[in-house]
Amino acid sequence: MSPFVHKLCTDQIRRYELVAFITHYGGGADSGHYIAYCRNELNGHWYEFDDAMVSRVEVAEVLSKEAYVLFYQKKGDAMSKVRDHVRSLLESGNKQRCKAVSRFHISREWLHRLSTFAEPGPITNFDFLCPHGLISPRRAKDLNSYYAEVPSAAWDYLHQEFGGGPVCSSLQYCVTCQNEFLRLQTKRNAELAAFKQLQKMERSPSVRWHHPPNLITRSWFSRWERFVLNHDEEPPPAIDNSSLLTRPAKEGGVVRLKQSGNYMTFTRDMWLFFVNVYGGGPEVFLVHDHQPTAEEVAKWDEERQRDLLNATEDDLQLNVTQLTLDNGDSDHDDFGDTHS
Ligand SMILES: [Zn+2]
Repeated sequence: MSPFVHKLCTDQIRRYELVAFITHYGGGADSGHYIAYCRNELNGHWYEFDDAMVSRVEVAEVLSKEAYVLFYQKKGDAMSKVRDHVRSLLESGNKQRCKAVSRFHISREWLHRLSTFAEPGPITNFDFLCPHGLISPRRAKDLNSYYAEVPSAAWDYLHQEFGGGPVCSSLQYCVTCQNEFLRLQTKRNAELAAFKQLQKMERSPSVRWHHPPNLITRSWFSRWERFVLNHDEEPPPAIDNSSLLTRPAKEGGVVRLKQSGNYMTFTRDMWLFFVNVYGGGPEVFLVHDHQPTAEEVAKWDEERQRDLLNATEDDLQLNVTQLTLDNGDSDHDDFGDTHS
């Protein structure tokens, strides 16, 4: 595979074996039927996976197929010796279990790489440990599924061969990371609740906005969304909307919205909410002529304040009723349909 390996790739092993491929019958990528062919690593036979039907096929038949996607696995001879040695260390360690043999914790994901990869790389115990080498709060719930115990002889051998770490012979909770985890969880919940409240006010406005919609880059909003939905550990950085605007030709020149900008629209309340929490800028409006000046924005703010003061009790009452009725749907985590 050497001719196809990226020139910056430092991996030593360049030999790959075909382990599976997919064939496609019928016209177009959106329709037709897909069948997978996979080689069983234990017995070396090829099998056809056609929906729920699995059958053994001869190599000659496999070679006659037209492949659509091919799966190769990197192959090195060195790893089978390593695996055999580790197996024997684990077995002898298990025999000594009753004796006082110290045991070490090791990432299950890395062990999986050890048993399948030609080059597993260094041990990655941060899969379940925090930066202080203690239990990561994100893994605390199903901790057992993230690590395995190995006898000290196996750990010493693996650590020497592959490096990485950190060494972990006892599991303790980390107060620092647990506090930070709880702080971020509270932040997520508070921001999500506040945003949903602003969304409801947008859907049933008591008083219309004078401002054109505010814009935020889609990439920033996606990062915030991933954070509050707990897909990302870290909150997003400060907002950076500069990619949405053209550069002025000269100092103090006109700044316009780019035609190709990838953004989402928000009410000004939402924009102020985000910028108060995360900072950044600049404030960008959905206006294709020049962007509004600070004076224009201040004038819209004044007009809105006046409308809010003049709004009848009924207008505002209606709004509050709708908010209360809407409360039931707070489980919906999809914001995407309301802005684009
Ligand atoms: Zn920690």
